[in-house]
Amino acid sequence: MAATAILPLAATEGAIQQLVPTDTAIIIEARLTTLTATCPCCGVAARRRQSQYQRRLADLPWQGVPVVVRLVVRRFWCDNPACPRAIFAERIPALAAPYARKTRRLLAVLTPLGFALGGEGGRRVLALLGMPASGDTLLRLVRRAVVAPCDG
Ligand SMILES: [Zn+2]
Repeated sequence: MAATAILPLAATEGAIQQLVPTDTAIIIEARLTTLTATCPCCGVAARRRQSQYQRRLADLPWQGVPVVVRLVVRRFWCDNPACPRAIFAERIPALAAPYARKTRRLLAVLTPLGFALGGEGGRRVLALLGMPASGDTLLRLVRRAVVAPCDG
């Protein structure tokens, strides 16, 4: 996948349905189009859809305007009788972690900014860049970041 893709979705995985500009943000409406999804518990591909819901993910801004990804996520029945999970939601690891409310690429910007500028300083700079985040959020990202142990 090209690094310049609007969303980290392969053409075979999903598609952007619509770009909706509002007064405060640009909304990218997207959905996956694959016929199957892999159960995160047992790894077996599932085809039977159970339901769907919308997920909102904050993404990198465009020209200083906040961008929100409104993603339709489908729930599937896992048909593997040995699997303890009956229903699961499809996942897009390249886009966001499960239950995350920010895309991975946004977190890849916020976390180092939190390290460099701290909570309140980072919040002020991010507001200018169209990436509103509270100081507490930045500090939480810094605490969550895994720091590799020193080799020497
Ligand atoms: Zn399963």
